[in-house]
Amino acid sequence: MPEGDTIYRAARTLHRVLAGKTVTRFESAFPAVTRIADDHPIVGRTIEAVESRGKHILMVFSELLVLHTHMRMNGSWHIYPAGARWQRPARDVRVLVATADAVAVGFNVPIVELLTPRQLARHAQLRALGPDLLSNAGPAESGRTFDRAEAVRRLRARDRDAIGDALLNQRVVAGVGNVLKSEILFVAGINPFAPVARMSDEELERLVDVARELIESNVLDRSQTLHPSSGRRTTRRMDPNENLWVYSRGGKPCRRCGAIVQSRNSGAEPRWTYWCPICQGHNDR
Ligand SMILES: [Zn+2]
Repeated sequence: MPEGDTIYRAARTLHRVLAGKTVTRFESAFPAVTRIADDHPIVGRTIEAVESRGKHILMVFSELLVLHTHMRMNGSWHIYPAGARWQRPARDVRVLVATADAVAVGFNVPIVELLTPRQLARHAQLRALGPDLLSNAGPAESGRTFDRAEAVRRLRARDRDAIGDALLNQRVVAGVGNVLKSEILFVAGINPFAPVARMSDEELERLVDVARELIESNVLDRSQTLHPSSGRRTTRRMDPNENLWVYSRGGKPCRRCGAIVQSRNSGAEPRWTYWCPICQGHNDR
């Protein structure tokens, strides 16, 4: 699943290329979306803004219609200059928004909806999202600020969950995916399987701070790309082979203490968790 930083950068790139431009072509593979677009044409509207909320992307058109997309596991937005060759086949297109000089193509995007502001405000999935770890990374005029106390309160409400599961739960905090989950817990020195109940408020506050620092550092100093998992970095090392602490490093020595990094596949979806038994061992079980 793409991480919140990937989605944030995708939204920022879409905004940079599309905002202020007029839509010249709109297509969707979803009949419900096409029907709304027939009744309330998107072509001719201005793209006002593109923004992310957790892992959701909202494209706001003039006269208040919002295109909501969610990438799940395999969806991605690509953006091409008009006339350029696409990197994916046309059969994978789920939604397309073109302007005079660019085309944004949503490939294999599983969730595409056109919403009025009223529907947006009532949207169950969006309303349920926990505080967005990237709230403070946006433009100051957005007025969005990250609510750490609310994030800690929502973590505390999942007392019986393993901390790794709680951190990945978008209703607790929005933005953490599988890679960052393992990395955040390593940096915070917390065992992924420890129940939330075992954590002090100070530990949860520190965990939330680490989460925000890591995800922000991955959007603020990187080149623009719309593709997931390209060069995420948590170690501050420039070598692309040393860019992560534990994720995908099962069986290799911990970069900090040399112990063997452990891995475990838990949950219904294959979600591997990686951790160092020494650096993160003190609050196991
Ligand atoms: Zn270690």
